[in-house]
Amino acid sequence: MLPVVALVGRPNVGKSTLFNRLTRTRDALVADFPGLTRDRKYGQATHAEHNFIVVDTGGIDGTEEGIEVEMAEQSLLAIDEADIVLFLVDAREGLTASDYAIAEHLRKLNKTTFIVANKVDGIDGDSTTAEFYNLAMGEVHQIAAAHGRGVSLLLDQALMPVIEQLSEQFELEMAALSIENGDAEIDFEIAEPEFDENGDIIEVEEPEHVPFADVPIKFALIGRPNVGKSTLTNRMLGEERVVVYDLPGTTRDSIYIPMSRNDQDYVIIDTAGVRRRGRIRQTVEKFSVVKTLQAIEDANVVLLMLDATEGISDQDLSLLGFALNAGRSIVIAVNKWDGLDQDVKNDVKRELDRRLGFIDFARLHFISALHGTGVGHLFESIDEAYRSATKRISTSMVTRIMKMAQDDHQPPMIRGRRVKLKYAHAGGYNPPRIVIHGNQVKDLPDSYKRYLMNYYRKALDVMGTPIKIEFREGA
Ligand code: GDP
Ligand code: GDP
Repeated sequence: MLPVVALVGRPNVGKSTLFNRLTRTRDALVADFPGLTRDRKYGQATHAEHNFIVVDTGGIDGTEEGIEVEMAEQSLLAIDEADIVLFLVDAREGLTASDYAIAEHLRKLNKTTFIVANKVDGIDGDSTTAEFYNLAMGEVHQIAAAHGRGVSLLLDQALMPVIEQLSEQFELEMAALSIENGDAEIDFEIAEPEFDENGDIIEVEEPEHVPFADVPIKFALIGRPNVGKSTLTNRMLGEERVVVYDLPGTTRDSIYIPMSRNDQDYVIIDTAGVRRRGRIRQTVEKFSVVKTLQAIEDANVVLLMLDATEGISDQDLSLLGFALNAGRSIVIAVNKWDGLDQDVKNDVKRELDRRLGFIDFARLHFISALHGTGVGHLFESIDEAYRSATKRISTSMVTRIMKMAQDDHQPPMIRGRRVKLKYAHAGGYNPPRIVIHGNQVKDLPDSYKRYLMNYYRKALDVMGTPIKIEFREGA
C-alpha cells in the first residue's frame, strides 16, 4: 500500500512541472513499451527508498463562486484520497484571493498539508515568500520545480517523515492481513555468480520456482466501471461458501477475497468492491485510480478487463501502463463477447491488434462474465503468468541462452569494436530480471535488446510477465 501525495493549487503554479520531476524516476518499464504514455495525472515516485503515488489534481481555481462549486469533482476525489497535500503557490505572482480560498478549503479537510512556494529561481525567495505565512498553514517551503531546486529538501524535511510513518502503519496493516492472505511479496537479493579458477561459473543447485510460489496468488481485477468486474468476481466465486473479509477502509481500498480452485489458493483483489453480506450483494464501486494503483502494487498478477462493446479507450491504455510500470504480470480479458456479430468481433480483434499488439507477452481471452464462458481458462493464464514471474532462472541457464542468442545473431560493431556479451545472471523476480555483463553493452541498439528479450522469452518459456534486461559494463 503506497502513500498518496496530492499536488493542489491554482492553474499555472507549476503542479505538472513538479509532478514530472517527482515521477521521472519511475518511468522505465513503460518507456520500454512505445505506444503507451504515462497518465499525466497519476504517477509513482521514489525517494530515499520509499515509493509513493503522486496525483496532480488539476485545475482548482478558487476565484469564482465559492470553492466548493468550482472544484472539479475529480480534484475533490483526488484530494480526498490523499494522505499528504502539497499546496503549491506562485512566488512570482504572490498571494492571491484564490490561494486564500483554497487554504480555507484544505483546512476543513484536516490532512497533512505543506505549503510550497514555487518559482523562486532568480528572485529573492525569503522576501517574496514571506507573505504566504499569512495563510497560517505553517512553514513555507521554497522550490523551483522547473530546475529541481529545493525539491530534495522538501522531500527530506517535509514529506519523508510523514511517509515513513505511513509506511510503517501500512506495513503493520499488511502484516495483519498476510495472516489471512499469505504473503506473496517477492523481493529479495540475488547473489552474483562465483567463478572457478578457469573462469567458469560455479553452478548451484536450485529449485524450479522461488519459494514464494506456493503461497496464494494475489490477482487484481482492474478495469473501467461497467466492464464487468463485479460480474466476473461473482462468477469466479460461484454461489455459496464464500467468506468475504469485509476489511475496514476508505473508498480507495480494495476488498481482498480469498478463494481456491483446483487446489490452488488465490486472493482476488477486488477493485469493484463487491461485498456479500449474507445473501445481499451491494456494489459500492466509485471508480478510483488510486485504488487501482494500490491494487496493482499489491498484486502478483493483474487481470485487466476490457469491454468488447466499448472498444479500447485511453483509460484502458493508462491502466495497462500502470501495470507495466509496476512490472506486473498481466492477463487481458475482453469481456461481453456474448451475442456479438462476427463483423463486430473481427473489428474488435483488429483494434486489439493495432493498439495492444506490442504487449506480446500477455495472454488475451475473450470471455463472457455473464454466462461464464472462458472464465476457467483465465485461471490457467493467471497461474501461468505467476509461475513465469517466479520461475527460477539460474546463472548457468541465462548465460547459456545469452551465448546461443549471440551465436545466432552477432551484436553490432560500435566505434569499430564488436559488442561482446560475457555472462548473465538473474537479478530478481516478479518480473524476472536478467543482468548481462559485457563490453560496450550499454551502447547496444534497442533492436538488439529487443532481440535478446524475445530470445529469452522463448528459451525460458515465460508467458504473461514482462522481462527486464539490465546491462553492466565489464566482467
Ligand atoms: P500547473 O498548471 O500548475 O500544472 O503549472 P505548470 O507546471 O504547467 O507550470 C506553469 C508555468 O510555470 C509553465 O510555463 C512552467 O514552465 C512555469 N514554471 C513551473 N515551474 C517553474 C519554476 O520553478 N520556475 C519558473 N520560473 N517557472 C516555472
Ligand atoms: P463493473 O462496474 O466493472 O463491476 O461492471 P458490472 O459487473 O457491474 O457489469 C456492468 C454491466 O455489464 C452489468 O449490467 C452486467 O450485467 C453487464 N455485463 C457484465 N458482464 C457481461 C457479459 O459478459 N456480457 C454482457 N452482455 N453483459 C455483461
